[in-house]
Amino acid sequence: MQIKKDFIKVGARIRPQTKIKATHITVHETANTGKGANAATHARYLHNGAGGRSVSWHFTIDDTEIIQHLPVDEMGWHAGGEGNQKSIGVELCVNQDGNFNKTKENAAWLVRYLMKELGITIDCVVTHKHWTGKNCPTRLLKEWSAFKQLIAGEEPSKPSPQQPPNNSDSIGTVTVKAATLWVYDRPAWDARHKTVKAGEVFTVTRKLDVGGYDMYQLKSGLYITASTKYVDFKPNGSGKPIATARKSTVRQASATAQKQTSLTTQTLRARRPYPRGEHVRRVQQALAKLHYYPDKGAKNNGVDSVYGAMTADAVRRFQSMHGLVQDGVYGLKTRAKILSLL
Ligand SMILES: [Zn+2]
Repeated sequence: MQIKKDFIKVGARIRPQTKIKATHITVHETANTGKGANAATHARYLHNGAGGRSVSWHFTIDDTEIIQHLPVDEMGWHAGGEGNQKSIGVELCVNQDGNFNKTKENAAWLVRYLMKELGITIDCVVTHKHWTGKNCPTRLLKEWSAFKQLIAGEEPSKPSPQQPPNNSDSIGTVTVKAATLWVYDRPAWDARHKTVKAGEVFTVTRKLDVGGYDMYQLKSGLYITASTKYVDFKPNGSGKPIATARKSTVRQASATAQKQTSLTTQTLRARRPYPRGEHVRRVQQALAKLHYYPDKGAKNNGVDSVYGAMTADAVRRFQSMHGLVQDGVYGLKTRAKILSLL
């Protein structure tokens, strides 16, 4: 591996130039699963001022390269007061078009290299969570000891086998209504496994309550939301054969695809009276599909057909990640970039 030095400019707001002598290495994940959210994209993001946020770190790693943004004797802003003063910040990319296993190997190589260069011991390789309690690095926290073994160069012990699929009788089928939807590998809302698309049909073996919300367990052993907002459930023996349901939902899915390519060519900006309507909703849905949510965690993740401050902010985040002018205005360039990624 090589380390590509591409430092944030001296004098930039996010490069405070405070000298440190790092005793720790802090491991993070970018939490940006968008396509193309690789190391080069994050380098550009930092060069562009990090979208106005007070964040910076030392290295970003993806499945093909390592980029260094700060000298190792200067402080970054990535792990809270003590963490910033004591540690080198290392960010692993989690872009959906990257190979995360390769990214992990590259990160392990870098951490091993930094430990040797800076005289840091394996005990002082820590997570962002260690300093501030933040749930970061989300994926690696679940396999932290295996990752440390990877750093140490040991063969990580095999992960425990997945629970065998539940072969009990099906209680019905579930059809995905949302354009894309997560399925989970455990009955837990943070156990995201992969996304499925509108029109896909799965066999359900049971319904269960997970933290106050219902989930279906699927015959495949995976789990999916039972919210009627996102899926249609059809109990066994309820008339319409599954084949019919499948056909009609395939039509729905292709209609969804068509909608995505019919994004408005109107310019949208968050100025009163706020633009609203179906054309705004389509833009919001497209952004959400690329993981830029107007209001993550809120109802419909903020997809509300109104182009207000939250949507402008999602557009600004999207623009800053893709080298566009960060004005929060949806115009033809932003539209073209969105369409190229859908
Ligand atoms: Zn972090």
